[in-house]
Amino acid sequence: MPPPLPPDAKCTRCRSQATIRLPNHHMNFCPDCFTHFFQTAVHRAMKKYGISRATPLLVAVSGGKDSLALWNVLNQLGHVTRGLHISLGIDDFSEASTAAVDRFAQERSLPWTQYSLKEIFGYDLMEIKRRSRRRICSLCGLLKRQMLNRLTIKEGFQVLVTGHNLDDEAGRLLGNLVYHRSEHLRKQSPFLPTPHGKMPIRFKPLYRLDAQEVRNYCSLQGIHSLEAACPLSRGATSHIFQEALNLLEREMPGTKRQLLYGYLERHPASPSTIPFVPCTICGEPTYEDTCSVCNLRRHLEKNSAKE
Ligand code: SF4
Ligand SMILES: [Zn+2]
Ligand SMILES: [Zn+2]
Repeated sequence: MPPPLPPDAKCTRCRSQATIRLPNHHMNFCPDCFTHFFQTAVHRAMKKYGISRATPLLVAVSGGKDSLALWNVLNQLGHVTRGLHISLGIDDFSEASTAAVDRFAQERSLPWTQYSLKEIFGYDLMEIKRRSRRRICSLCGLLKRQMLNRLTIKEGFQVLVTGHNLDDEAGRLLGNLVYHRSEHLRKQSPFLPTPHGKMPIRFKPLYRLDAQEVRNYCSLQGIHSLEAACPLSRGATSHIFQEALNLLEREMPGTKRQLLYGYLERHPASPSTIPFVPCTICGEPTYEDTCSVCNLRRHLEKNSAKE
């Protein structure tokens, strides 16, 4: 949390009473001007990557603050959107996530579609955790990525937008650099063009806004997102990298932006040179004979046979 503002602080944009401090930008804002700042950051991102209001957007919504803030701001900016929610089957947490999406959409009369991981993959996340020793967050990440891609095309959309913010993107970059994950670094970009007709464009319009800015926006807009953290998130390395960057940011404001924007400028995303082939089991595009989703399902089935 940034330190509180002095009582006589003025809004940088309109000179009225400021209530929100943005130390990383050396700016203070009143509520209206902060909302303008937030919308402008998203509008610029859309413009930079050529996403016009005429392009229908499928918004991946988890029920957390980032995805609901994204859905809200895109509607304020006049984009045509539909929400897509995958219930992961993590006991009460997933029920609360779905309820947060439902409430948000109903209050604003926004259309959305709900799927469950069990129905589209055959196992929910708690079953996957019981049947595999692999890190649950990396399996969950893989499934969400693949399923969102497939469902975007199934729902008739070409562009999938997700609520990753600056902290997510800078933390991911730091992790990829530390572990020299060149394949991930190649795709480190807020905008990934479609690599195949059966895969959507993926875009992260909040990549220039940090987690505190998203929190401020949610509170000003009356967005009641799910506050609880996923009970399976303990020990997730992505949080540790984000914490490390928060420490640097406190000592040296602007570090996160410096790291991410500097990298993006010097290293544009590059497409893979490996040709896609259809998965021999499900027919989805993959680099190997069988795709990662079918491989995971086979691994889980084998483990269930041993039980
Ligand atoms: S914390 Fe891990 S298991 Fe929970 S939703 Fe996120 S990626 Fe999935
Ligand atoms: Zn103002
Ligand atoms: Zn497959």
